[in-house]
Amino acid sequence: MNDRTLTIPQPFNLINGEWIASQTGQTMPVVSPIDGRVFAEIADSDASDVDLAVSAARTAFTEGPWAKFTPVERGRLMIKLAQRISQEVETLAQLETNDNGKPTKQARADMVFAARYFEFYGAAADKVHGEVIPFLNDYDVGMYREPHGVVAVILPWNYPAQQIGRSVAPALAMGNTVVLKLSEDACLSGLRIAQLAVEVGFPAGVFNVLTGRGEIVGKALSEHNGVDFISFTGSPEVGTMIQIAAAKNYVGCTLELGGKSPQIVFEDADLEAAMPVLVNALIQNAGQTCSAGSRVLIQRSIYDQVAAELKSRFEAIEVGTNDENAIMGPVISEKQKQRVERYIANSDQPVIARGKISASAPEGGFYVAPVLFGPCDPNSEIAQEEVFGPVLCVIPFEDEAEAIAIANGTDYGLVAAIWTRDGSRQKRLPKALHCGQVFINNFGAAGGVELPFGGVRKSGHGREKGFVALHEFSRIKTVVNYYG
Ligand code: NAD
Repeated sequence: MNDRTLTIPQPFNLINGEWIASQTGQTMPVVSPIDGRVFAEIADSDASDVDLAVSAARTAFTEGPWAKFTPVERGRLMIKLAQRISQEVETLAQLETNDNGKPTKQARADMVFAARYFEFYGAAADKVHGEVIPFLNDYDVGMYREPHGVVAVILPWNYPAQQIGRSVAPALAMGNTVVLKLSEDACLSGLRIAQLAVEVGFPAGVFNVLTGRGEIVGKALSEHNGVDFISFTGSPEVGTMIQIAAAKNYVGCTLELGGKSPQIVFEDADLEAAMPVLVNALIQNAGQTCSAGSRVLIQRSIYDQVAAELKSRFEAIEVGTNDENAIMGPVISEKQKQRVERYIANSDQPVIARGKISASAPEGGFYVAPVLFGPCDPNSEIAQEEVFGPVLCVIPFEDEAEAIAIANGTDYGLVAAIWTRDGSRQKRLPKALHCGQVFINNFGAAGGVELPFGGVRKSGHGREKGFVALHEFSRIKTVVNYYG
């Protein structure tokens, strides 16, 4: 494309510390969402590559140096990787912008967070303690935390670098080895991070990376009986297949799936503070965020005022400028563009406003102007389903009880936000909302490396981020010692 091609990794997998072509030699093209052009190739892997990667990870776990690393040594290596990622924020961000389409400012933030995850979990690697359990006289009972073994991590395309930090870092911190399957739709920053891991000295086989099609290589990895645990982030449809595959091998999994997250705005809210957040929580990453605040519930007494303010903000959004101040880029692919446009065209709900596509947006890119729907029937398709694009639904409500019913009235339950100055409501509502995170007078999941994150029902199960992720990526062993 331009001099950025200098940073593009070769179409190879990382297996046992070596960059190698897929066993079949097949590659597949990487299309930039910015202009629809092919600008790189990746390995198109299959089950034979999975066999090699899982076997390398198994050997590294049982016989390799990884098992002999102390927790503090593991942690130091991870912090070294965090430092290398930090040094490469700019090139990684440019790679991500080309690959995923997100504006460079957002891509830069992703890289900073990717580094932060390795720093956080690197620093935590030697701080996971077991417990001593009081039992009968003359017994010592210890509860130890052990790694699962070989962990398969399967990721989507929307925040590849951050998601590597979120899932791979805690897995490694606990002493597991990893086979990572990146998304075929955006994986170049992930491959570059893996290069940096090799460079800072991760032993062969500890961190293996595969690219290729989900239904081929992702499926083979999730079904492989050499895998001890699966961390999956992606769609509910594939998440269901992953859970079945895990069940067939009697291993555990975490599923980080989709969402239709509500932001509930009460009449006593600080609207000046809320307004920019209500918009950004949706349009960030062109609406392709699992925790996007894609439903705004507005108390009826302030509905007209808030809807009018949202309308003017939506009409001011220009997509595809890709300059330093760009707030929204293209969606990931032609397929995703068609999917989002289909939802918009098929909806029978009233449209309040549309943003526009910049005259300077490159030809052939996958740009979708954001759309504001409202007042929406909370049971309509557009207010129920995860569009995963720049579509915001506004829904009026009368009182707290109705707000809770609407907020909980989808199959999803990932994140919710409440905008209110009422102190007792701030305490009451989080308990009533069915989801994994509740924000009060703020919103955002992506930034909080320290904050446990995950869903209920169709949003998945298990918790990543924060210290608790270290528990997901380990299991308990109880040792009962009779010394009488
Ligand atoms: P996806 O489920 O299609 O793909 C995710 C990953 O699974 C990719 O690497 C893909 O190659 C792989 N895959 C596809 N089919 C597979 C199969 N049969 N077996 C094994 N692996 C397979 O999802 P996507 O389109 O990449 O991402 C969008 C979805 O991800 C949205 O629903 C979004 O909400 C969700 N998501 C959730 C979170 C979260 O943390 N909860 C974060 C980001 C994205």
